[in-house]
Parts: sequence; C-alpha cells; structure tokens
Amino acid sequence: MAIERTLSIIKPDAVKGQHIGQIIARFEAEGLRIAGARLCQLSRREAEGFYAEHSARGFFGELCDFMTSGPVVVMALEGDDAIARNRAIMGATNPANAEPNTLRKLYAASVGENAVHGSDSPAAAAREIAYFFRSIELS
Ligand code: ATP
Ligand code: MG
Repeated sequence: MAIERTLSIIKPDAVKGQHIGQIIARFEAEGLRIAGARLCQLSRREAEGFYAEHSARGFFGELCDFMTSGPVVVMALEGDDAIARNRAIMGATNPANAEPNTLRKLYAASVGENAVHGSDSPAAAAREIAYFFRSIELS
C-alpha cells in the first residue's frame, strides 16, 4: 500500500461541540499522522471555492452557510492508504447511514452538519491540500 496524504476538515459543528481533541486522537490511534494543521474561519469565497464541484446542487447555499458558521480545523493526514482509510473512519455522508463508531456516527447530527470532511480521491486530495497549505507548511 502506498503512503498518501489526504485533506481532513473538522467542521464547525464538531469544533463547537469541542470534539477536536477526540477526532485528532482517533486519527493518531488509527496510524494517520498529522502532517499539517490549522484552525481557521473560512470566508464565503473560500467555502464556495472549496466545494465548487457541488455549486449546482440544491444544498450548496446551505453547505456554504454551515461551513462559514464558525471556525474549522484543516489538516493534512498522512499514512498508508490515507484517503480511503480516512473516509472509512469518517463513515457515510449521512450519519443515519454511518457505521457504528465512525466519526459521523459519533459526532454528526445530520447530512448537512456532518462533523468532518475527507478527500475522496488522490486528485481531490492533491487539490484540497494545495487549497489550504503551502508545501513548507507540511512536514
Ligand atoms: P465531504 O465532501 O464534506 O467530505 P462527502 O464526500 O461525504 O462529504 P459529498 O457528496 O461530497 O459528501 O457532499 C459534500 C457535503 O455536502 C456533505 O458532507 C454534506 O455536508 C453536504 N451534503 C451532501 N448531500 C446533502 C444533502 N442531501 N443535503 C444537505 N447537505 C448535503
Ligand atoms: Mg465530498
């Protein structure tokens, strides 16, 4: 298996709920290393750019409202098969369908406010990491 990097976001609901520590502890316990991390408040423009692939969807406005509703933690996670493994740890987009003990089952309230983001492919991971981090900010 290849060492990969993937972008993770702890979304505003999970930051407000004070789950940052538990979520990062879970990634580390699963063998994913934090290669970069920052707490930040996304602007509207940054949220819209990040989720541009969903701009035609009916939930896009709501998604950007939510992502700008409070601070988020953006992280680059590194490890074997990190992209798929992070998605498995996160669970299904809708927490109602998420497996037990996944981050979304544990911390998310709804499909719109679902605690974490994770890149879904190598191309997305490269684009999303570059969206938030300069290479010298990653180690
Ligand atoms: P993310 O990209 O945030 O990791 P995902 O890859 O599991 O989530 P996507 O299909 O990429 O799911 O959707 C992006 C985000 O848009 C979801 O995390 C969710 O917050 C929101 N979203 C998706 N579908 C809906 C929906 N039907 N109603 C409201 N919000 C939705
Ligand atoms: Mg997605």
